[in-house]
Amino acid sequence: MIEGYPEIAKDVAALKATPNLVDWATERRTFSWDEQWKGIDRPGGMLNKAYECVDRHANGARANKTAIIWQSAAGEIERYSYLDFKKQSNKAANALRSLGIKKGERVFILADRIPELYFAVFGTLKIGAITAPLFSAFGPEPIKERVSRAEGCTIITTPKLLPKVNEIRSQLPSLRHVIVIAHREGKPVAAGDIAWSDIVGPASEEFEIEPTGPDDWSIMHFTSGTTGLPKGAAHVHNAIVSHYATGKYVLDFHEDDIYWCTADPGWVTGTSYGMFAPFSNGVTSLIDEGGFGARRWFENIQKHKVTVWYTAPTAIRLLMKAGTDIPKSFDLSSLRYAMSVGEPLNPEGVVWGIEAFGLPFHDNWWQTETGAIMCANYPSMPIRPGSMGRPFPGVDVVIVDEQGKEITEPMVEGALVCKPGWPSMFRTYWNDQERYDSRFKNGWYYTGDKAKRDEDGYIWFVGRDDDVINTSGHLVSPFEVESVMIEHAAVAEAGVIGKPDAIAMEVVKAFVTLNDGFEKTDALMRDLNRHARARLGPAVAPKEIEVIDILPKTRSGKIMRRLLKARELGLPEGDTSTLEED
Ligand code: ATP
Ligand code: MG
Repeated sequence: MIEGYPEIAKDVAALKATPNLVDWATERRTFSWDEQWKGIDRPGGMLNKAYECVDRHANGARANKTAIIWQSAAGEIERYSYLDFKKQSNKAANALRSLGIKKGERVFILADRIPELYFAVFGTLKIGAITAPLFSAFGPEPIKERVSRAEGCTIITTPKLLPKVNEIRSQLPSLRHVIVIAHREGKPVAAGDIAWSDIVGPASEEFEIEPTGPDDWSIMHFTSGTTGLPKGAAHVHNAIVSHYATGKYVLDFHEDDIYWCTADPGWVTGTSYGMFAPFSNGVTSLIDEGGFGARRWFENIQKHKVTVWYTAPTAIRLLMKAGTDIPKSFDLSSLRYAMSVGEPLNPEGVVWGIEAFGLPFHDNWWQTETGAIMCANYPSMPIRPGSMGRPFPGVDVVIVDEQGKEITEPMVEGALVCKPGWPSMFRTYWNDQERYDSRFKNGWYYTGDKAKRDEDGYIWFVGRDDDVINTSGHLVSPFEVESVMIEHAAVAEAGVIGKPDAIAMEVVKAFVTLNDGFEKTDALMRDLNRHARARLGPAVAPKEIEVIDILPKTRSGKIMRRLLKARELGLPEGDTSTLEED
């Protein structure tokens, strides 16, 4: 437990919905993947994510149930039932097949969060091709880099984003088609490009899904690039059972939920949990094309009566910065459950939810490579703020020492590893099998993260392998130092690095951004130092604290400590394709 953050107890009987996972320890003992597979139909032995997410609901009792509530950036609403979703994705599938796109080929999509993005993803899955969504804010270079590494055959985009594709298309020999979704913007489509409405509009609403199996490719996602060059992690249809099961037990889906995942599909959370988990469970999802805004977000919850909300620490810290008056000015009584993923959630963020709208944030951990949630806080389980919870019942996530031996002693740091073979395991880094193989050693998959486990099996994130700081023989977790820094009323966010030092090996340096209304004065700097030393002790407290305007972050909102470090030391910045620049 982190001092000052007592365990948050749960009164299961008082929760608005009876959790699907009633008791973690029992579920851990009795969980069986065979049982979970019973929630997936496999007609004729076929397994296809699009069938499991869309068609089976459209063919059954959920046909007229809303699958997608879409809100445009300007606030217009469109609703699509599961039957509409089936027809639209069938039309997309027919159109893509008519272009000669084959099973296993890579179809990129570069679009804002518009309904056609979702139809294109599921249409691509229906023809057995590999869908690869990209952040729409990527510049030409990151687009080129990814499409060329994956030898993509098609890019589906919009007139607004097309100029970025045009800049690099001559350098992409694998690219055969550029499809432009122009009707929403009312723009013409240039000769040589294909208008989405020309090929999808007249296409049939009937489609026979390519008979894919569990080991056929389905989606490719590039990692966030937090630690270096983004890697193209490729997944297969088999992963759907993990999305379904974690949707049920971690996201705690119930039939009447209105679920909102704020992640963009350019990041794995936006597909695994913005699409596959909610749709395989047949729930209704809110998709907001608009970007972050504290007022907009709380208004969304009120307006659409969101019940389950999945977001990220970066957004939570921005909401905290905007203050509790905003959430308190909306009726958020529909909300029953809130979660976070992407980087460690500071304990301050966990408890802020209680202050702002009466519910804590539930942190969970996973990676692009794991495809699905591996470690989580669950609605029925007490929260230890700062811990990412306990392993998902059907997977093994443990801490090992340098020899790959499991560490059973509590709170001893080691490498966080997973037992290979979980259903949503990635199957390669595209065109980089060597790197893929290097992640598997001693019978484990090495996640690249460091963590420790307490006596009750809660896992505590320490840092990325490369980020953990060694100062005078102490191993310091940047996350712990950052969490303490943001407890201070003046600090909005913090990024902590180790700076090489002749005597101490490394010294701790904290970069902080300030909340509105605070200024960098000598008195404030003295107070920050005092606070850090009082909470962390002199050995761990930063030796240097620097106030900066913004922290470098990935487009998925993760603090890029490697960039802070490179800038501090005057070293090359390395790959910055995912750097948020807006
Ligand atoms: P790259 O692999 O390109 O450096 P990345 O690791 O940030 O980028 P993702 O797959 O998006 O790419 O992120 C997974 C990583 O994010 C995890 O390995 C972990 O370091 C961090 N992470 C995700 N969720 C949590 C969490 N709840 N607590 C702590 N860290 C988290
Ligand atoms: Mg990673």
